[in-house]
Amino acid sequence: MLEVRELQVAYGAIEAVRGVSLTARPGHITALIGANGAGKSSLMRAISGVTRPRSGQILLDGCDITRIPPHERARMGVAHAMEGRRILHQHTVDENLITAWHFRKPQGSFKAARDAVFAHFPILAERANAKAGTLSGGQQQMLILSMATMHAPRLVILDEPSLGLAPIIVTQIFEFIKEYCSVGERAILISEQMANLALKVADYGYVLKHGQLAFEGDSKTLQEGGLAGLSSAYLGGS
Ligand code: ATP
Repeated sequence: MLEVRELQVAYGAIEAVRGVSLTARPGHITALIGANGAGKSSLMRAISGVTRPRSGQILLDGCDITRIPPHERARMGVAHAMEGRRILHQHTVDENLITAWHFRKPQGSFKAARDAVFAHFPILAERANAKAGTLSGGQQQMLILSMATMHAPRLVILDEPSLGLAPIIVTQIFEFIKEYCSVGERAILISEQMANLALKVADYGYVLKHGQLAFEGDSKTLQEGGLAGLSSAYLGGS
């Protein structure tokens, strides 16, 4: 389980995350909901270790990982698919998968992991030898998700995986996320600007506003609380 306690992230005078506490449980999809600039990416980057928090604590299964470097967190089972499509554009789909696999040095067979990826996303098998930069946005997101999950990490952090994608692709991506989370002790933390999208896939949601938690609750409660109110009050009317 992931536990974040009183986390603060700042860039000079800009306080991006101001004392946020949250948990993400195995078998659950936890959503971070908030408008542009609310602090979602900063919070996620602090959890994976890419950004150093000013204060607060990050615990993974009770172990304090706040000061552990990102590559070690990755080997402890933390995977982070960042916003902005981090893939090797000049390399093929296959090469991207190989790179992602070896970076984590997991046990098990690369071939079996790749077969599982191709079974989930047959289009990636068809395009295995194509340069990743030539894939459509949806195919790139499938590749990113595959790269983040093929070694079966226990905590997967997904920064706006639906951004800019057609609804049918979003549905496919969310189905994959749900299925991934239903196996073993895996937790997913996902960020979304659109509350209605996030609550479709998540079990629990935290709403961030200006770097602080505005409120939290299970998806049903947040939905019953009124998406319209949620959106206009906290998400800038989206
Ligand atoms: P988005 O959906 O646009 O990614 P977000 O909710 O993820 O938004 P953050 O990207 O975490 O929000 O940004 C929170 C605040 O921190 C914003 O005011 C942003 O301008 C600022 N910020 C983010 N990254 C940096 C940085 N590297 N240097 C300075 N300020 C930053």
